[in-house]
Amino acid sequence: RTGTPGREVTFDKVTFAYRTGGEILPAFDLTIPPGQTVAVVGATGAGKSTLAKLLARFYDPTDGAVRLDGVDLRDLATPELRRGVVMVTQEAFLFSGTVAENIAIGSPDATRHEIEAAAKAIGAHEFIQNLPDGYDTDVRKRGGRISAGQRQLVAFARALLADPAVLILDEATSSLDVPGERAVQRAMDTVLAGRTAVVIAHRLSTVEVADRVLVMESGRIVEDGTPSDL
Ligand code: ATP
Ligand code: MG
Repeated sequence: RTGTPGREVTFDKVTFAYRTGGEILPAFDLTIPPGQTVAVVGATGAGKSTLAKLLARFYDPTDGAVRLDGVDLRDLATPELRRGVVMVTQEAFLFSGTVAENIAIGSPDATRHEIEAAAKAIGAHEFIQNLPDGYDTDVRKRGGRISAGQRQLVAFARALLADPAVLILDEATSSLDVPGERAVQRAMDTVLAGRTAVVIAHRLSTVEVADRVLVMESGRIVEDGTPSDL
């Protein structure tokens, strides 16, 4: 991959509480070296999505700081943050507009050639070409024809094109059919290659390809090792 070099992520004594409740993360420390793919696993309510949302700066810590290459996320300008951190959620949201426009969200200067190259790399080109108007198909009008797995592929093509320094994936729990699973898994491998990434993992196959696995329990890391350690 010749894109954006990965960047170091640090959670520096991050304490966080949602407005409505008690402390979710108590003085949380974590360093992710550039280029490392970290799988996060743990029971429901452990704080995995909260961790992801703090890294994407949907929320700010109550105390402590989340940093990118040592810089507090709060000190990054919005465009810098948008380029720096991208989150792909399980819903793999499509916006009204064409398939091409959906891939280019976050990359307003992308050419059609670059959009197609990203879709090809992800393995989405073939199904897109088979849509009624190809890349110009309106996803809202034809939305019903785009399956959950295909939506995931569009979201991955979007992430690959945006080429963020840090990628966060909240892996889908909804089960796809077997070919769909394989296509999504391959696309995920492509988009993660060489990138600093945090993947909230629900599949064993994802945990196995990670460089590092964190097990969370009640807002704390209770295990930190390689997939073979666990
Ligand atoms: P899951 O595997 O079910 O997605 P998770 O590990 O992602 O779980 P979080 O969503 O981070 O868990 O939730 C951690 C804790 O924070 C839970 O106790 C949850 O109820 C609480 N929580 C999550 N979102 C909010 C919110 N918006 N407001 C208040 N509390 C919240
Ligand atoms: Mg979650």
